[in-house]
Amino acid sequence: MKAAVVTNFSKPLEIREVPIPDLVPGSGQMLVRIETSGLCHTDIHAAHGDWPVKPSPPFIPGHEGIGRVESVADGVSPEWVGKRVAIPWLGSACGNCGYCISGWETLCENQINSGYSVDGAYAEYALAYANGVVEVPDGVSSVDAAPLTCAGVTTYKAVKVARVVPAERVAVFGIGGLGHMAVQYARLVGGLVTAVDIEQSKLDLAAELGADHLVNAAETDPVEAIREVGGADVAVVLAASPKPFAQAYRSLRRGGRLVMVALPADDAAITVPIFDTVLGGISVIGSIVGTRADLAEVFALHAAGRTRVITQTRSLDQVNESFDDVLNGRVPARLVFEL
Ligand SMILES: [Zn+2]
Ligand SMILES: [Zn+2]
Repeated sequence: MKAAVVTNFSKPLEIREVPIPDLVPGSGQMLVRIETSGLCHTDIHAAHGDWPVKPSPPFIPGHEGIGRVESVADGVSPEWVGKRVAIPWLGSACGNCGYCISGWETLCENQINSGYSVDGAYAEYALAYANGVVEVPDGVSSVDAAPLTCAGVTTYKAVKVARVVPAERVAVFGIGGLGHMAVQYARLVGGLVTAVDIEQSKLDLAAELGADHLVNAAETDPVEAIREVGGADVAVVLAASPKPFAQAYRSLRRGGRLVMVALPADDAAITVPIFDTVLGGISVIGSIVGTRADLAEVFALHAAGRTRVITQTRSLDQVNESFDDVLNGRVPARLVFEL
């Protein structure tokens, strides 16, 4: 099968012919014929070894994989065969720990991460886990389903954990693959949305998707601009550098919630002033992807026509130029490889 392989953190990916992976009996695995695979910024961090915990090359990235189950390992229900499934970042969790049994499988300490700790979906076939995949409903195309599998569920969960109520102001910092979905989820729960980005084209996209207030952070201080309209009740940070995190914190009004989602390279930090946090009743929340239940909800909303996914499709052979295009801000929202 064809696959895009990371051989070294400092080299481009290689398009190679590699063997179709074997199912391990009793492993809970299924073999999926991949149809589409979204390009998430995390794949670039994985390929470059940017984060404190690194994957080990050679490996195949990709955690927005959509495809049909071709076969299953012994022990997995044969009813999965032929179903179209999504393979998310949370490839599998233990299913037994306190986190897993209380609806927080995303926090499981024994999780498998697609395209990071195991090979992912930048390939014609990928192994997935029956206790990790989510079935894709008929009303969602494979091209749309790919970005929903990470960008969608991650921002949906961020809006959920922030407990946004109608007429609250939600500031979304960073309007890319994740941000264009965050704007829509914040609106779905009744939020008034401020979109913050440094590129006018991204702000135009946010406006098209219903953002109420636009701030170009390359021209205006977003803290002042948001405070002028009363401050943010919720600020969701999707831009992967420390500066917007600090700006997002300072844009909050009393009772505000800062939701940290993006993961900058290295082990970045911001300073949280204790006095303002205590007196302002501020919450700082970390939010990592979403559960299978969250993803099923994301698909249901999309199938019902409540969200739009802005994508451009590419062939897997264009993986390296696609990484460059993402790093240089030359893509509309999300790139999706068709296999
Ligand atoms: Zn992702
Ligand atoms: Zn667990």
